[in-house]
Amino acid sequence: MIHLKNLSKTYSTEEVETTAVNDISLEVKEGEFLAIMGPSGCGKSTLLNIIGLLDSFDTGSYSFLEKEMFGLKERDRAMFRKQNIGFVFQNFNLIDELSVYENIELPLVYNKIGKADRKIRVEEAMERLNISHRSKHYPQQLSGGQQQRVAVARALVNRPRLILADEPTGNLDSKNGNEVLELMTELNTQGATIIMVTHSSYDAGFSSKIITLRDGIIVGEKVNQRQIEII
Ligand code: ADP
Ligand code: ADP
Repeated sequence: MIHLKNLSKTYSTEEVETTAVNDISLEVKEGEFLAIMGPSGCGKSTLLNIIGLLDSFDTGSYSFLEKEMFGLKERDRAMFRKQNIGFVFQNFNLIDELSVYENIELPLVYNKIGKADRKIRVEEAMERLNISHRSKHYPQQLSGGQQQRVAVARALVNRPRLILADEPTGNLDSKNGNEVLELMTELNTQGATIIMVTHSSYDAGFSSKIITLRDGIIVGEKVNQRQIEII
């Protein structure tokens, strides 16, 4: 599904140049649940944002669903992103001015799904995430756990083939964190490919493979036994 080859990205400011991703080659197969670990500043988010087509890169190649992403116009990147990728972030990234229902509906609007279908899918997602009773509320009226459930509902409502999560449990207590991790495991067993950035080895334990980054380089890669047992 994902092939990165000798991929690099350097941020340049007036004072410093930081190579956040340094010559990374990586393959992610359909159906994998990959965890990306490593210390703060090692390039995890940059790599995830490149994979998620939110960010461009300088050199190397990235083929996503067999199509080369290097040099793609933002418009085309956005189209690939909206059709195939769901995102979950540490800070939930919900839109404050939209209700729970409207936040979850957004990816379906972007993908031009008709209103009647949207309603069915949003209600299904709200039920699955146990948030239906909050459909008319706004993000600020919800607890952190509830906000992340809305964010996960938004990530899955379009049934994306790839779900990217950046420290999804970072602002949650362990009960809510576990709910999110169990849900991602469930989505994975139903066929979604998942890539999750985390610095928690507990969270990484839910994945099927763990890579470790340091200074923008992959320094470790291991298959995770635990997930294999679940499957
Ligand atoms: P991580 O997610 O592992 O904490 P990041 O991918 O956020 O790491 O950052 C990797 C490196 O790139 C860090 O040194 C960071 O300071 C730098 N960096 C990230 N984003 C920017 C940016 N927009 N401008 C300049 N430097 C950046
Ligand atoms: P959950 O675990 O179901 O995500 P909590 O147990 O944290 O939610 O919250 C308990 C109740 O308090 C919920 O009904 C929630 O809507 C309400 N609540 C929590 N935080 C807020 C807030 N900032 N404003 C309004 N209601 C809140």
